[in-house]
Amino acid sequence: MRARKGILCRGLFPPRDVCYKTGRGSTGIFQVCILASGSAGNCVYAGSERTGILIDAGLSFVQIERRLAAAGLSFDQVRAVLVTHEHADHVSGLVRLARKRLDRKRPLPIYLTERTASSIDWQNLTPHLELFQAGARVVVDDLEIDSFTVPHDAIDPVGFTVRAQGVKFSLATDLGYIPDSIRYHLQGSDVLLLESNHDLEMLKVGPYPWPVKQRVMSRVGHLSNDHACDFICQDLDPRVQTLILGHLSEQNNHPEIVRLMADQALLARGISPRLVVASQREPTEAFTF
Ligand SMILES: [Zn+2]
Ligand SMILES: [Zn+2]
Repeated sequence: MRARKGILCRGLFPPRDVCYKTGRGSTGIFQVCILASGSAGNCVYAGSERTGILIDAGLSFVQIERRLAAAGLSFDQVRAVLVTHEHADHVSGLVRLARKRLDRKRPLPIYLTERTASSIDWQNLTPHLELFQAGARVVVDDLEIDSFTVPHDAIDPVGFTVRAQGVKFSLATDLGYIPDSIRYHLQGSDVLLLESNHDLEMLKVGPYPWPVKQRVMSRVGHLSNDHACDFICQDLDPRVQTLILGHLSEQNNHPEIVRLMADQALLARGISPRLVVASQREPTEAFTF
């Protein structure tokens, strides 16, 4: 493997002025499992003992059920689906999922922004939609979920933070860069799923047509490994217990490059959380807090 660019830590860690530990219900558990992550399909489970949610449904229903089971989770625990944006790798399994639950006489609420909802083909389904404005907070049973706008070339894309049992999980994938507003939202995360989409050099010499390369690299495209490592160096909250890097490009990245660069960045930052590189093909374990 060729030598990687050195990683510079330019920024200072922001003041620890936000504390998300609620102290309530600290005997309960909170679980996160990345069922799939990448440009061929995205689906994430997060939940407490009482309530589970899926974020995005870019897998077939069979795969979602199978991967939940492989991680020791059940589709019956899932009370709602939240959608980040309308790209196919995030919603391709959504209609089938909702239909399946209607067949079981247990409608599955789908939380998404109005503009995202109107850009999805619901295929004659009348789904149970819970519409919110990007930036709003929604509550699903004991899960407190905040949404935030992300810079991406979709109609109204968002990321999420999910809090329960004093644990905060943040999800930020499909974004061209990390504005300060998102850095703010990611503070205090105990577990973070962050995009590390492409190696810039691999992308530049890779097979994509030039307009696609430009799109991926743009400020409404995807985060590069360098972007992710800059964030780790400058802004990753030292309290993070599990850092998951995801939405890797199959053509323009390699998990070993991602891991190597992130290890260097964490070393430079002086922290050593559990580091996970999420896969397209198999779920992670269900991380339990
Ligand atoms: Zn995506
Ligand atoms: Zn996207």
